[in-house]
Amino acid sequence: MHVPFCARRCSYCDFAIAVRKVVPWREFAHALAAEWKARNMTLTTALDTLYFGGGTPSILGSEGVRHVMDWVRSVAQLAPNAEVTLEANPEDITAQSVAAWQQAGINRLSIGVQSFDDGVLRWMHRVHNAGAAQRAAQVARDGGISAFSIDLIFALPSSLTRDWNRDLDLALSLMPDHISLYGLTVEPRTALGKWEARGDVTIAPEEQYEEQFLMANEQLTAAGYEHYEVSNFARPGKHAVHNSAYWSGSPYLGIGPAAHGYSGDVRRWNAAAYPRWQASAMAGIDPMSGSETLSAGNRLTERVYLGLRTRDGLLVGASDLPLVDQWLSAGWLERVNDAEPRRVRCTPLGWLRLDALASALTALRSH
Ligand code: SF4
Repeated sequence: MHVPFCARRCSYCDFAIAVRKVVPWREFAHALAAEWKARNMTLTTALDTLYFGGGTPSILGSEGVRHVMDWVRSVAQLAPNAEVTLEANPEDITAQSVAAWQQAGINRLSIGVQSFDDGVLRWMHRVHNAGAAQRAAQVARDGGISAFSIDLIFALPSSLTRDWNRDLDLALSLMPDHISLYGLTVEPRTALGKWEARGDVTIAPEEQYEEQFLMANEQLTAAGYEHYEVSNFARPGKHAVHNSAYWSGSPYLGIGPAAHGYSGDVRRWNAAAYPRWQASAMAGIDPMSGSETLSAGNRLTERVYLGLRTRDGLLVGASDLPLVDQWLSAGWLERVNDAEPRRVRCTPLGWLRLDALASALTALRSH
């Protein structure tokens, strides 16, 4: 479920968001129900996971989240032990909101920390400061939501003198179940894109991206986390169930502005702009803005790419061996286990070349 609202736009953010001082959560909840009705949706199976992504879903507050969860339960069944994740920014995490979210059925938070450096957070135009991020994790734990993930961004411009090592240490000190890392990318329409175009900021060179990615791999795996997907680390048994379903090609529903869904054959996506999505749903019209039926070629590409993203890896055939053997020798791939000699996965060095490896293997397979 995509919740589009944010208090302000971060300097690097190019997502489909709606900046609102006062969040119209009742209007949003009505539009969700209207979308459901307009799409004539009925579910015959229980949901294994529910993920509130954004935007900033936590900005819905205690009452908004409770209201939306009540609506979800009125149209869908949640499987016993379903993973229900709320993306939350530190400034919204209070003892009161955590208690209300937990009561509403949220059992996992994904906390948008990004850095523990106040200068960096200001540069990013984030609302919170480092102290708030540290407090938020403690408040979540004290309130009984001990399953939480922390997001961090790396490969920032060198001029910020960000200490990546320190940020990783501080993240580890909060003992999260899960850590997601994102390399900073520059989108032209963002504030960061404009700063770069004016020459006010120089983006980190590729070597810095590589160095920080490998440093994170070393530091987090040494602390007992599994690097189970190119951007994700978890304590054993604490992999994100929801995201893992994307990577294994499972079907999912998407609801809300810009939400994507996948039936197993067809991918569809909703109108991204909040006013357009809301007006369409309230007029009783499916707010879909596009769809595609996956061809055999698309499926092949996805299978290769998704397989190489994860630690579970990919089963390779005899015709893949010319490339796979080279990559095993180069240290970019490794065998997953002895029992399945044809299953390979990327090493951290391989993940740094993920797109190139996936497209070379796809090209070889499609000949
Ligand atoms: S909080 Fe997230 S979605 Fe909202 S503006 Fe910042 S990066 Fe974008």
